[in-house]
Amino acid sequence: MQKNEMVTVTIEDIGVNGEGIGKVDGYTLFIKDAIIGDMVEAKVMKAKKNYGYARLMRIIEPSRERVEEAVCPMARKCGGCQIQEMKYDRQLRFKEDKVRGNLTRIGEVPEKLLAEKMEPIVGMESSEGLEQPFHYRNKAQFPIGTDKEGHVITGFYAGRTHSIIPNTDCALGAKVNEEILKCILAFMEEYRIPAYDETLHRGLVRHVLIRYGFRTKEIMVCLVINGNTLPHGQELAERLSVIEGMTSITLSINKEKTNVIMGNTIKSLWGQTYITDYIGDVKYQISPLSFYQVNPVQTEKLYGMALEYAGLTGDETVWDLYCGIGTISLFLAKKAKQVYGVEIIPQAIEDARNNAKINGIENAEFYVGKAEEVLPQYYADYEREHGGEKAHADVIVVDPPRKGCEESLLQTMVDMQPERIVYVSCDSATLARDVKVLREKGYEIERVRAVDQFPHTVHVETVCLLSRNK
Ligand code: SAH
Repeated sequence: MQKNEMVTVTIEDIGVNGEGIGKVDGYTLFIKDAIIGDMVEAKVMKAKKNYGYARLMRIIEPSRERVEEAVCPMARKCGGCQIQEMKYDRQLRFKEDKVRGNLTRIGEVPEKLLAEKMEPIVGMESSEGLEQPFHYRNKAQFPIGTDKEGHVITGFYAGRTHSIIPNTDCALGAKVNEEILKCILAFMEEYRIPAYDETLHRGLVRHVLIRYGFRTKEIMVCLVINGNTLPHGQELAERLSVIEGMTSITLSINKEKTNVIMGNTIKSLWGQTYITDYIGDVKYQISPLSFYQVNPVQTEKLYGMALEYAGLTGDETVWDLYCGIGTISLFLAKKAKQVYGVEIIPQAIEDARNNAKINGIENAEFYVGKAEEVLPQYYADYEREHGGEKAHADVIVVDPPRKGCEESLLQTMVDMQPERIVYVSCDSATLARDVKVLREKGYEIERVRAVDQFPHTVHVETVCLLSRNK
């Protein structure tokens, strides 16, 4: 196979990044945007010895798993959606298979055991008037840049790049985003406020963060700037504040030369510095810097499952590691004796403590720090202060970022001998790695289920219950 060769391929599989996989005379090609079942014409872009990458040029025969037309005209270019052209029920099957595959291959969980313990993936209902779920995200971070003519633009990064594809109307985001972005772009043009330029590390406005409380209809806008103040900021605040639901307008100061979007200092421009939202009947205050699940409809299902898996009766001591603003902790606290939450971001812990207060929850306590430092420290201190007696937990819930848990943390968790460990994961590969360790240390998978928090992307959330072997 050679670069620039045109080939006809039938797509037989889906790769981990959602791309189509097909073979030409035994040679494997990965083709972005090709859907399993398609017959396509593709151009080879990169040819390695045993496999290559090709660009989809023409669909000769569309797959039955392909939608007639993508809802978003940018779907192929934009890096946000990877599988928008795949029918939603096929997306769900792909995600469930991905979780199962990781657990068996990386986690070395016996297939027979999984067949018994794994429950069907929890999908999302379709949106009003559409065949598939859209407009589910309550949070979006739009990069601000300049086009060739010098106009301020915003949109999304093209896949694996930092070049901005202009788009103020993302099909995954809240519908109100567009009005807010147009208002900000017009303001910047009018007052000649420069967009930030990543390569030169010059200019002012880097990103716009928008959060929308689907239940409360409250809106937060936070402009990330490479400077201390926004010229004519009050004028912008006035214009934005008339949008229905506007609750919080802030600046985030980020003067670093970095890929990290948010800066750590938050300054108020107008209104509160947080918005409020509900999951189930628990009320949450959310600050610009705090983590909050992006799909509230599916999150309610996810937390409901985590709670069910925890099997609480009211007598339990529970740890919620990587607790964010205490979302899962407060769900658990209503059914447990005592909950301890651990989280690395100080502002999130401030939110968590406050959230306990506004919900009248008194049996939740929060610690700032790395889970892999706080828990072992607590365990050691406890032993010293209690004459050698070991700290015990009845249930431990973990919800780590993609990199999963450190092995030292898994060891302390096991040392605390919880009856149950509920592992909530946004990356089933690291979940599988950690499950392997926990199985070796005396825990077994009791239940496991994928939840689709992110339709049209290749990401999937998983909840796994492990019980201590008797
Ligand atoms: N359970 C929460 C948050 C989950 S996201 C919810 O559902 O809303 C993961 C959280 O882990 C983030 O809030 C992140 O700030 C935090 N985090 C990342 N690394 C950490 C570490 N080493 N120790 C503790 N928390 C960490």
